Amino acid sequence: MSDKIRVSFGTASVLGLSTSRLDAVPTCAYLMVGERCVFPCSFCPQSTRSAGRADPRMLSRVIWPEYETNAVLERLKTACTKGLIRRVCIQSVESPGTRLLVMDLVEKLHDALTVPISVSLSPGSLSDVREIFARGGARVGLPLDVATPGLYARIKGGAFGAAKRAILKASEEFPGRISTHLIIGLGETEEDALRLVQEMVDAGVKTALFAFTPVRGTPLENMKQPPLDMYRMIQVSRALMEAKKLRVSDITFRDGRAIDLGDAALRVIFEDDGFIASALRTSGCPDCNRPFYNERPGGVMYNFPRPLAPREEREERGFLARVIRERAAGCSCETQSNHAAQCDREAQCI
Ligand code: SF4
Repeated sequence: MSDKIRVSFGTASVLGLSTSRLDAVPTCAYLMVGERCVFPCSFCPQSTRSAGRADPRMLSRVIWPEYETNAVLERLKTACTKGLIRRVCIQSVESPGTRLLVMDLVEKLHDALTVPISVSLSPGSLSDVREIFARGGARVGLPLDVATPGLYARIKGGAFGAAKRAILKASEEFPGRISTHLIIGLGETEEDALRLVQEMVDAGVKTALFAFTPVRGTPLENMKQPPLDMYRMIQVSRALMEAKKLRVSDITFRDGRAIDLGDAALRVIFEDDGFIASALRTSGCPDCNRPFYNERPGGVMYNFPRPLAPREEREERGFLARVIRERAAGCSCETQSNHAAQCDREAQCI
């Protein structure tokens, strides 16, 4: 095991390793192993295509300071005992030697802690997945990240089919213990994303949704984050699909946008108490809330890392109602994409 380890900024604060004030606290401790990845993912600051690669502390928009591994372990024990940390997730950056370090760390954490351990690593070798479980891992996240073969080749520089097959095989061997990550806003349509989510649901794989976040120094640094209406439609559809209350075949798409989820789905969205609040929470492994992984404090909340306040729930309900109503009426204007904008054609849409 390496004597130093990187932990996310928020994790460091929960563990008392830093004194920063947090707007939302992580309930999962995020640890990073490896740096300067060998893969060329265009959205990632650790990739071979990133000019920001010189700074090994970055993953997504988050800074990961380095600490003594033993100090992190001791503090983790206390935080888990107090119930502050309910899961630990090891983010494996694909660099030479990382796999061995990850395996050792899984075992060490499993022996020392009572909370479940997740590991996120590139989909590939099934023997690595087996080894993680053999060493005491509880779940494995195999990020597909993008929704289509064309985007995969362009953005991740590899074969989508092989990566997806690796995820499905892992889930076949370890049912109910595999997650994947899907980043929304990389050029896919809602239909692309939801067809993939359905495939994952059918294979028993949980999908953790991320909103694309431009990071300085990466080839995609100038690309925008996804429109909020797109993200919310995918979030509620994913939640319905995972609850087996919607199938992608029930959704009517026009030009790749979901324009009708069907009456049964709408009843759940607007009549089931707490559905919207739970659908908009961070998705993925249980107790993984990734605060501000895709968001800036005070900015658009793509994934809520904590329960929604009653006012937020009312606003989100109103926003979704407007988006669904306008889409059904054939409106595709840009004002759908954020909360604040008022459409001057609203009278025609309603
Ligand atoms: S969903 Fe969260 S805990 Fe699970 S692998 Fe992804 S980042 Fe880790």
